[in-house]
Amino acid sequence: MAVRLRPLGSLTIITGSMFAGKTEELIRLVRRAMHARKKVQVFKSAVDVRCDTTVIRTHDGWDFNAIAVTDSAEMERLLESGVDVVGIEEMQFFDEGVVNLCVRLADKVVAVYAAGLDQDFRGQPFSFMPRLLSVADNVMKLHAICKLCGRDASRTQRLIDGRPAAWDDPTILVGAAESYEARCRNCHEVRNMPKHLRDPENARNTAGAKRRKSRAAVTEDPGVHPDLFQDFNF
Ligand code: ZN
Repeated sequence: MAVRLRPLGSLTIITGSMFAGKTEELIRLVRRAMHARKKVQVFKSAVDVRCDTTVIRTHDGWDFNAIAVTDSAEMERLLESGVDVVGIEEMQFFDEGVVNLCVRLADKVVAVYAAGLDQDFRGQPFSFMPRLLSVADNVMKLHAICKLCGRDASRTQRLIDGRPAAWDDPTILVGAAESYEARCRNCHEVRNMPKHLRDPENARNTAGAKRRKSRAAVTEDPGVHPDLFQDFNF
């Protein structure tokens, strides 16, 4: 059966740690679309206070005009009819509704390019970003260079008064000198990180100990035959 081809939208996510070049890549894709005479709109979260309200600024100092919005509903209201390409900066600062908006836009033949962090400073998945990565057509994971060892960096190191931030430090600290840098998996540090998350070997041991404990509890129960466990590798 012949398939009737209709115009196709897409959802592309540009992700990675800070300083990985996500904004530069977003600007490159958006400029490319403009050269192709596409109708383009670029949005950024008004939560991002790094620069002026109508400008995206890369860490290298490149500027690009963008519309600052407070949430995904405002972004949807400001979308112009006939838009071909939508660029979104600092995706992780939006509300979760932005995921469905991106999917609906891609279904309506819009090419969506969205840049955002995939992990928080603890190295944990950033809110709805895992869901967004799952429903995307394309995922570009970019890497920075580790500030300490020079290898590929996939994590963002948060420093407070020059020391690695603690797991439970609040997101906003009044009066403290905060900074961020790119680090690799090996050099990334989080003080007071829960032990089972800090050391994968430790995590396996902890899980193994728990399984052994529960096995002991069950095998003491005369209603369960120990042979039931013979196929399991504890
Ligand atoms: Zn490193």
